[in-house]
Amino acid sequence: MVTLLIYAGPAAADASGTRTGGVRLTPPEFEWPRCRECEGPMQFLAQICLADADPGSTGLLSVFMCQNEPGLCEEWDAATGGNSAFVFGSDATRAAPVPDDGVTLLDETSAIGFAQIEGYDYLGARDRWTARPVGPCRSAWPGRWSAGVAAERRDTRLRRL
Ligand SMILES: [Zn+2]
Repeated sequence: MVTLLIYAGPAAADASGTRTGGVRLTPPEFEWPRCRECEGPMQFLAQICLADADPGSTGLLSVFMCQNEPGLCEEWDAATGGNSAFVFGSDATRAAPVPDDGVTLLDETSAIGFAQIEGYDYLGARDRWTARPVGPCRSAWPGRWSAGVAAERRDTRLRRL
């Protein structure tokens, strides 16, 4: 079984749930992370409510990656300092001030849902998800996208009953 993170429509920049973009929610004393390569502020990519991914878990995973000089800061390397992730507790409720310099925010904020797909790897699960007749897809035209979201919401409600 593979868990995919699925686009679930636009979200408020300070939404408390799992999302990409927007502003990060942090404890009061937390400072915006900087890249160890270029020393610029990193871009906030996503926050994941760990309870959404694994019911019973707690905390908020906050993910950053340097985009000040893409490709030059080894931003995909786990050890060079071009990316970082933090797990916050229940005190992560404050929208952190955004630095004035660097590439720090995504252009839009999106809610993220989770889909459990049969399979053993991401590529196979992604292919099965996109082959679904109503699966939401960012590249789909708006009418089809809306139908996909509505169908997915119905599916979610049925699973909870
Ligand atoms: Zn950098």
